[in-house]
Amino acid sequence: MADNFPAGLRLAADDADDAPIPADKRQVIKKYIDKLFGRRDRVTHKDARPVIYGADKHNIRREDISRCARKTCEELQRAGYLAFVVGGAVRDILLGMKPKDFDVATSATPEEVRSVFRRSRIIGRRFQIVHVLCGPEVVETSTFRAHFTREADEDNRDEHGRMLSDNVFGTQAEDAMRRDFTVNALFYDPVKEEVWDYVHGLKDLKAKKLVMIGDPATRYREDPVRMLRAARLGAKLGLAIDAKSREPIPELRHLLENVPQARLFEEILKLLLSGNAVECVRVLRELELHHGLLPLLDTALDDPETGPFAMAALRATDERLAQGKPVSPAFLLAALLWGQVEKNLRKFEDKGQPTIPALHNAMHEALDEQRETLAIPRRFDATMKELWLLQPRFLQRGGHRPYRLLEHPRFRAAYDFFELRAASANAPQEAAKWWERFQDTNPDERERMLVSDEAGPKKKRRRRRGGKGKGKGPGEGGGPAPSDMSPET
Ligand code: ATP
Ligand code: MG
Repeated sequence: MADNFPAGLRLAADDADDAPIPADKRQVIKKYIDKLFGRRDRVTHKDARPVIYGADKHNIRREDISRCARKTCEELQRAGYLAFVVGGAVRDILLGMKPKDFDVATSATPEEVRSVFRRSRIIGRRFQIVHVLCGPEVVETSTFRAHFTREADEDNRDEHGRMLSDNVFGTQAEDAMRRDFTVNALFYDPVKEEVWDYVHGLKDLKAKKLVMIGDPATRYREDPVRMLRAARLGAKLGLAIDAKSREPIPELRHLLENVPQARLFEEILKLLLSGNAVECVRVLRELELHHGLLPLLDTALDDPETGPFAMAALRATDERLAQGKPVSPAFLLAALLWGQVEKNLRKFEDKGQPTIPALHNAMHEALDEQRETLAIPRRFDATMKELWLLQPRFLQRGGHRPYRLLEHPRFRAAYDFFELRAASANAPQEAAKWWERFQDTNPDERERMLVSDEAGPKKKRRRRRGGKGKGKGPGEGGGPAPSDMSPET
């Protein structure tokens, strides 16, 4: 257990217990230590004391805290409990960033929190937290909780050391210790404007270091997702992952295979939508944590044909987020899997299948392959497929087809996708430019812009029903390439 504590909290008396010192001498040493440090021998990690930084020692002002989080802490303190803003919000403000949300940690039990705030509700079953509501704002309020069941540590882990449950109330010190990185374990009291630090988090933050609390290997075994969090938070915060926290990753990265798919996917999505996707993916690859997560992260980024497009999609996502624009996870996922879809498409076309049936097969195969490693929830399937299926239609610029495509409910997203491909040399630039003009111009000019159909596909157009010929003939439209999906482009 002692290995789980930060080195600074290791107790002299604990170490003395293991040493081969006779009992009487031990007593003398113990008394000496008592005298030196006050009754430090009694102090277990459970009662460890924090370093408290006053308002003049840090840059958080209570105005930086949302009104609801402030009120939650004030009211709880007034009712006699300890209450602090904790975790990501404190860390972000200290780094001069704007927090996404504010979480409160308190000594009050969920029931007690509930009784202080009329507008609150208890949520969760395994570990209850309370949502305190003020106007539209919701503050997640959790009772201090311990690292894991104090008694039955061994029973509480699977055979790889992964923690199975995490639902015991604890002291504030324990609540600090159960967190992942030291910079994530800082408490801010908006009443006294103090930062309470049990784990040297503030020092690490100043040194721009991401340091795992306790023994890193043990903590990654308990929860392998912490390895992904290291990559994401390191990238997001511009912190270097501490050498000791990085060291066990190569031998433990395989444990990610045991993490439930839904949780893994959630973390990957957080990473991709963090606003620093490019940097996150770089760190993931550096730590070699990317294997099996998305085919893209395995191989496609290195692929000279599709890599630039995948990278461009990551970059575009980061840029949109920086401008406060909404991003669609399905769009990004479709972009990340596009390389695989194209590869499969070529395979089916080489077997003699026409483009559209080949594209259907290619999509399904790409999604199936993906499901073997990291399942993308099915709710994204429909949008991704639509984006993919609309791609060949951007090369059809004769007759009614461009008008029909323009009216398609997914036109905008599909066009953005196509444009990004063109900008990454994955589709003809000229076609993307054509579409840019076609959207904006007047009806007469549109008519003039139509590119007369070429031989092959034109015949198919005559088919009125069944739509089988629809969207066929990738060379149609006079574009420079025979097919935007062909290996040459
Ligand atoms: P973000 O900026 O993405 O919100 P965050 O650090 O706030 O980053 P959350 O998932 O919101 O991440 O978690 C809130 C806090 O809970 C963290 O700051 C950390 O203290 C703790 N925490 C989250 N995940 C873990 C984990 N896997 N193991 C230990 N502690 C964790
Ligand atoms: Mg958070």
